[in-house]
Amino acid sequence: MSNRIYYTEPQCTEFDAVVTGTTRQGDRPAVALDTTAFYPTSGGQPHDTGMLGDARVVEVTESDAGEVWHVLDRDVEAGQRLHAVVDRERRFDHMQQHTGQHLLSAAFDRLHHARTVGFHLGAVVSSVDLAIDVSAQAIAAAESEANRIVWEDRPVGIRFVTEAEAAALPLRKEPARGGTLRVIDVEGYDLSACGGTHVSRTGAVGLIALLSAERLRGGTRLEFVCGGRALRSLRTFRDAVAGCIRHVSVMPEELPGAIERLQAEVKDQRKAMKDVQERLAGYEAAALASAAEEVNGVRQVVQAIDGRDQNGLKAMALAICSNPGFEAALFSTTAPYVAVLARSKDRSVDCAAVLKALMETCGGRGGGKPDLAQGGGLTGSLAEILDAARRELSRPR
Ligand SMILES: [Zn+2]
Repeated sequence: MSNRIYYTEPQCTEFDAVVTGTTRQGDRPAVALDTTAFYPTSGGQPHDTGMLGDARVVEVTESDAGEVWHVLDRDVEAGQRLHAVVDRERRFDHMQQHTGQHLLSAAFDRLHHARTVGFHLGAVVSSVDLAIDVSAQAIAAAESEANRIVWEDRPVGIRFVTEAEAAALPLRKEPARGGTLRVIDVEGYDLSACGGTHVSRTGAVGLIALLSAERLRGGTRLEFVCGGRALRSLRTFRDAVAGCIRHVSVMPEELPGAIERLQAEVKDQRKAMKDVQERLAGYEAAALASAAEEVNGVRQVVQAIDGRDQNGLKAMALAICSNPGFEAALFSTTAPYVAVLARSKDRSVDCAAVLKALMETCGGRGGGKPDLAQGGGLTGSLAEILDAARRELSRPR
């Protein structure tokens, strides 16, 4: 079983170790070491990465038996003594987030008796789940309190205690297991049993920033970032806000109101545009109807019309056929073509059959009833489609 350096020296990121065992995890080789500073995924904290000799440590896992397995990108022989280096940046990031979590959980516990029931250290943000629902005001108070402890730069100690000693300590959370316990001691503020890696003074957490809160199964899930991640978040928000205020020329705090006003304006304008289009369609339909070709006593309007979608074409076709004696076949001007066929109440041509005949040669999909049929996706020469429509409308059935 590996001696775990990070239990007592979480700052240590370089060490020498002997390979004591080899195995495979999936299709990758994995090794056990007599001693290790690599943290295996556990307790909500992701594993470390780094180098073992020439091999890259891509993942670190812990078996049920308590062995730490270093998953590698290449084979390494047992019995070798190798130099190992833990990726310091990744480890420090995890230490900042994890210590920040202790402070945040302790602050919620102390101020609001809101126990932490879950913790996840994610690749971008981390989250804690609180057992109860907490107000926005309560969240802000706990965030301030946790940051106060950061800025007081209190020592973060590591203590090992027996089960009996642990029972006498005011631990924030009942320990999940017996035997010797590792206790993380934020001086004068929080004691909690934990096997993870933490910074040695709270000041190294830098800043704890809550990003969001959502209700979850009667409790609250809080997302947060600490230290370097808090700085990156600030940069992201700063750039996003700067980008927005360049477009709308207001102070950052006025942005929500400005966006709301813009959305209302767009809605009004869409409605006004729709009214205008409907009125225009009426005039256009009247013009088309008056210029309709007379074929065997029927007034046919077979046309491709620019700038109209399916609904626009349908409105025009219906307007044309609102008077007796009309048959209309309207198309869009760009391929794949949209088609709308309609007839006046006194006409008997089957629009659905005409559309079906058109689609047999021009493709597309659609259908409808004898008095109104609609389709889309027709391809080919527009002039030929218009000719075919004229032929099909006039074809005796
Ligand atoms: Zn911890």
